[in-house]
Amino acid sequence: MPAIQIDERRHRNMAAIHSADTKPELVLRHELWRRGFRYRVNVRRLPGSPDVVLPRYRTVVFVHGCFWHGHKDCKNYTVPKTNTEFWTAKVARNQARDQDVWRKLEAKGWSVIIVWECELKNATLEDTVYRVSQEIARNGQLYREAKEERKQARIKYQKERKERKEREQTLMKEAKSLS
Ligand SMILES: [Zn+2]
Repeated sequence: MPAIQIDERRHRNMAAIHSADTKPELVLRHELWRRGFRYRVNVRRLPGSPDVVLPRYRTVVFVHGCFWHGHKDCKNYTVPKTNTEFWTAKVARNQARDQDVWRKLEAKGWSVIIVWECELKNATLEDTVYRVSQEIARNGQLYREAKEERKQARIKYQKERKERKEREQTLMKEAKSLS
């Protein structure tokens, strides 16, 4: 019956949507929200559809699974003893894709913060959130300063152009009165 098929499809879709909200990511989001940071999640129009996007700070955060993204020297990243080559190659591909995503985001003026899943365990959560908050705040500061600099440069340029025009007009008037 078609009705059942639709229900099944919807169920699968919902399962897929839920899988995007992995738990460590929720923990980080909750902590950032508590500290007053406002963000958007899974912004698809940005490269790599980052987990957390903070437009006011021009910063994105990715929460990376230690195994899939190959967290160096992490006990959660141990290459399986079977099919070792396959897993090593797979993780290497993920890492290459991650780097490509960072480059694209940075080219668009975004700062990228990586948080590893193991850093969000209870024992290290507080330190991690502190580090991430500091970094976001600093990025926001730099972003605002750069914006202000561009604004000042624009004002200066417009002022100079106006003065130049006024000088030209004065000279023209003088020229006319002389002729
Ligand atoms: Zn790790």
